[in-house]
Amino acid sequence: MFKEFKEFLTKSNAMALAIGVIIGAATGKLVTGIVAELLMPIISLVLPAGDWREKQIILKSVVDAAGKETVTSIKYGALVGDTLDFLIIACVVFLVTKALLPKEPAMKDCPECLEKIPLAAKKCKACGSAVG
Ligand SMILES: [Zn+2]
Repeated sequence: MFKEFKEFLTKSNAMALAIGVIIGAATGKLVTGIVAELLMPIISLVLPAGDWREKQIILKSVVDAAGKETVTSIKYGALVGDTLDFLIIACVVFLVTKALLPKEPAMKDCPECLEKIPLAAKKCKACGSAVG
């Protein structure tokens, strides 16, 4: 039983998958940290100041016997803010990823057979025709 379990861990990809999940979770935490501690303070310098994130359309406001006010509202300011945050963060993460990941070689289509070939190629690898 134990031997079988050990075999399952070593011969299948279970261990690799588990490590991948753990590293993925840690990476997610790191990205969240970078965004919250490093990017957002810089981004907040660019965004308009003021309480526009608090803007809302009040649908109903009820004051109960104890004098406590219950407000039902559409908080569109927060929605616009969250959307803006998402767009900026996604854009920055895209730029960082683009800078860090290896670049794919530039390709072009062969005019004769339409196969993808390297941009610098003088001869098509698929059909053999000369390409400029
Ligand atoms: Zn070709």
